[in-house]
Amino acid sequence: MSKILIIEDEEAIADLEKDYLELSGFEVEIANRGDTGLAMALEADFDLIILDLMLPEVDGFEICRQVRDSKNTPIIMVSAKKDDIDKIRGLGLGADDYMTKPFSPSELVARVKAHMDRYNRLIHSGAPQNEIVEIRGIKIDKTARRVWVNGEEKTFTTKEFDLLTFLAQNPNRVFTKEELFREIWDMESVGDIATVTVHIKKIREKIEFNTAKPQYVETIWGVGYRFKV
Ligand code: CA
Repeated sequence: MSKILIIEDEEAIADLEKDYLELSGFEVEIANRGDTGLAMALEADFDLIILDLMLPEVDGFEICRQVRDSKNTPIIMVSAKKDDIDKIRGLGLGADDYMTKPFSPSELVARVKAHMDRYNRLIHSGAPQNEIVEIRGIKIDKTARRVWVNGEEKTFTTKEFDLLTFLAQNPNRVFTKEELFREIWDMESVGDIATVTVHIKKIREKIEFNTAKPQYVETIWGVGYRFKV
């Protein structure tokens, strides 16, 4: 049975999460303080950790950092403050997912299952692994055709996915709109190079923190686009 550790000082929340996870067949332990949670996380082998950010004694930042030093256990970080979530994403502490409180227990269970499945596939199976492209917080699973931006999954249309993947796999190269159109849309396609501009805009809305100052897909004026590394 998979074992989950919940490190959460609000006991009502921890108990609710525990109930839902147990109903879904997980074994769950709770730590209500940061220091005890950290000790448990380091000593015992859990399959996943749900980690609150603001905790007495030792906070979630420090716990995540210390656990990551020695273990690959999936960590879902939770916080009541959206700002804090953005901040920890930026720090790159190595959490696998982030959730802003309040969230529905069923959403938590769904995310836990998804991470658990992925982790189990990675460590147990000799099955071929998915082809992954990872660049600065963007993770593209080419096999499953899924994309995560700083741990959060984003939905892309077929062409958006193809275009993003093509650019990410050819970083630091400038492509004209014509080249991109030829590459991604087949010759019979109806449409024109303006389609490329529209798709780039959609992609930026999903991956860029500030679409006015893109950090990934840059416009090279008068030429085209390039994926910056
Ligand atoms: Ca807290």
